[in-house]
Amino acid sequence: MRTLILRLPTGADLYDSLSKIVRDENIKIGHINAIGATSHAVIAYYDQASRKYLTIEFSDGMEIVSLIGNISIREGNPFVHVHVTLGDSQGRLFGGHLLQGTKVFACEVLIQEFEGNPLVREYDESTGLYLWKTDVGQ
Ligand code: ZN
Repeated sequence: MRTLILRLPTGADLYDSLSKIVRDENIKIGHINAIGATSHAVIAYYDQASRKYLTIEFSDGMEIVSLIGNISIREGNPFVHVHVTLGDSQGRLFGGHLLQGTKVFACEVLIQEFEGNPLVREYDESTGLYLWKTDVGQ
């Protein structure tokens, strides 16, 4: 299947850009990875007890040491689920679930589309998350 290699523009919203590419290209199942830097970052930690995402913001420039994500179907549309590891000026690492509001300084993205049935997300009572249905995707 296809492999897309892209550079995101400075100032773009990282999550929205990845989401738009995947929807425009109608990629239903796949893998995303990227490296680069952010000028502002918003990530989240899922608190299992409260079942809420706790937001963490970085207003300084950070390295995108690693960005990894997957593509599946949620509510009928291609959906990206992305986690990032960010590095600060001391090389310290922070990470979490990527949210909207993260601004690209520079970003090189590789998206791989897979063959096979799309993975479909549905609400999972035991975690409070939209997870893959286990009977598809083989
Ligand atoms: Zn996540």
